[in-house]
Amino acid sequence: MDTTGEGSPGSGKDAQSLRQEILDLKKKWGEKLLILTHHYQRPEVVRLGDVRGDSFELAREASRREDVEHIVFCGVLFMAEAAAIVARPEQKVYHPNMNAGCPLADYADAVQVERAIAAIEEVRGKGSVTPVTYMNSDASVKAVCGAAGGTVCTSSNAPRAFEWALERGECVLFVPDEHLGWNTAAALSVPDGEVVVWDPWENGGNLDAAELGRARIILWRGHCHVHTWFRPDHIQRARDASPEALVYVHPECHRDVVALADGAGSTRYLVQAAEQAPAGATIYIGTEINLVTRLDMEHEDKTILPLARSLCPNMFRITLRRLRDTLACLPDGETVMVDQEVRENAQLALERMLALGGRTPTGA
Ligand code: SF4
Repeated sequence: MDTTGEGSPGSGKDAQSLRQEILDLKKKWGEKLLILTHHYQRPEVVRLGDVRGDSFELAREASRREDVEHIVFCGVLFMAEAAAIVARPEQKVYHPNMNAGCPLADYADAVQVERAIAAIEEVRGKGSVTPVTYMNSDASVKAVCGAAGGTVCTSSNAPRAFEWALERGECVLFVPDEHLGWNTAAALSVPDGEVVVWDPWENGGNLDAAELGRARIILWRGHCHVHTWFRPDHIQRARDASPEALVYVHPECHRDVVALADGAGSTRYLVQAAEQAPAGATIYIGTEINLVTRLDMEHEDKTILPLARSLCPNMFRITLRRLRDTLACLPDGETVMVDQEVRENAQLALERMLALGGRTPTGA
């Protein structure tokens, strides 16, 4: 059953002819074209990409390639927007399906974030809060954070970003993933009593002045349904089936799942965990199913299993047909546009992230 892929063929005769058309178009554009594919893309799309990776590393990689004029980003829309923000002026960014957004990013819009900052400052004073937004957010949300002196973070450098924010102000507002927020607070040993959750759909975030006044970390009510799908009993089942198995999960999972796993980290961390496991190992991974099945195919000497099947339907909306159509419309197809002011402020937030130091930010 193809739930979200618009019936696009991933195999068979139609897929073969689409693949050939894509290869021909790639040949036609040569070095001027770069196809980026996120780790969660369908295998048949990943196979035709030039570079695969996390959203931020892909965006930066594209901007570094001097000959590239056309960047086709196979991922969800905020990723293509990030590529457009860091792209050089002569580069154009295309997205094969503008309807493929990210439900997690959709939990926060710019106006809501501005209102939350204003409400916190009303209680605690101007400059008391430093906003940090996850890479998985709209460009306009990144821009609000940039303009308010905040930064962007990824799942790999969230602890460093929280520390940086707490050095600048009394508290951090973290948008939009509550669970990455709880896991980061736990990694920094911040007591639960100093963490509150802002609900953007409730008056005053559903927090009273006393709660807002004492919190060091203010999280946003939002989650990734792909990663919150994993439950503690999935880990128990995996351990019962294979007591020697290692279990790794993404930090967008609930913190009780993270606490039971052998390790948690960004998509790159999960890829490296699979690579570095000894031959013969059994590994369960709690993340998007397309990445897990591909890792299993790429590591024949190991058994790599999904902790449970969890597919991102939005990533799945990028099909061979959509990719072929996008390439066929070059150089006149619809490009990903980011308003100039939004771009400047979002870039500010991204530059602050790069200046944070520590490990190279990856994730999302
Ligand atoms: S896996 Fe989650 S965070 Fe990633 S694109 Fe899908 S919904 Fe968004």
